[in-house]
Amino acid sequence: MKWQVGRVTITQFIEIETIGGKEYILPQATPEALRRLEWLRPQFADDDGRIKMSIHSFLVETPTRRIIVDTGIGNDKQNRRIPGWNGRNGPFLRDLAAAGCPAETIDTVLCTHLDVDHVGWNTTLAGGRWIPTFPRARYLMGRTEFERYDEKPNPSRDAIFDDSIRPVTDAELVDLVDPGHQVCEEVSLIATPGHSPGHLSAEVESQGQQALLVGDVAHHPCQLAHLDWSSTIDYDPAQSTRTRHDLFGRLAGTPTIILGGHFVGGTIVREDNAFRLAV
Ligand SMILES: [Zn+2]
Repeated sequence: MKWQVGRVTITQFIEIETIGGKEYILPQATPEALRRLEWLRPQFADDDGRIKMSIHSFLVETPTRRIIVDTGIGNDKQNRRIPGWNGRNGPFLRDLAAAGCPAETIDTVLCTHLDVDHVGWNTTLAGGRWIPTFPRARYLMGRTEFERYDEKPNPSRDAIFDDSIRPVTDAELVDLVDPGHQVCEEVSLIATPGHSPGHLSAEVESQGQQALLVGDVAHHPCQLAHLDWSSTIDYDPAQSTRTRHDLFGRLAGTPTIILGGHFVGGTIVREDNAFRLAV
């Protein structure tokens, strides 16, 4: 899918789509509960109340920049907790090239946060070594997120650091950034903590039009209707709820397009005591 925001074009590149089976991260999102939210169908849930999600990246093309926001799972990774995320051989780079943006033309990579499903294509395997996928890009990572990797040894996170983060820091391609960072004239970063402590969202504004790339502020639109349905993988579930409340409250009724890390499209509308996504 593609969105036009003034002079900025945003294109979604899907790596994995799933129906059902993700309820473990949103235990309150049972089929019964999802069926009650009729507006979720058909885009975000099926008729049986099974949750629809995707893992994807966005290509954000401004008049001067080519930015990739979040880099999915990646190919050839190992030691991932979810079996289907190991040893993948997906067409992401071919899709990008077919869209007229081969990897070497990307000048910026932005990771909203540094979880496994947002950093994978930072690197590719070449001759047994992990090398930066986007050799001419600056990789923007939140300082707070990056420093989290020093907190304590954790075998699964260490594997992610070693194959998807360390190779780009070793190549001196990483810029650690803070909320408020202006990526270019049309794109800036805001703090949206909760899912992770240093989680960033990207605001896009051009010619009076806006979009917000919210990463994992919400994993699924059902969390707009139930702000307190925090994901079991949220670092600080109470903060994650507050961030949704404040952010979606600020955007409700505006034409800002919301693009999530695992769902896309729509504007925020107030409904009952919370919100829904209007597509
Ligand atoms: Zn995610």
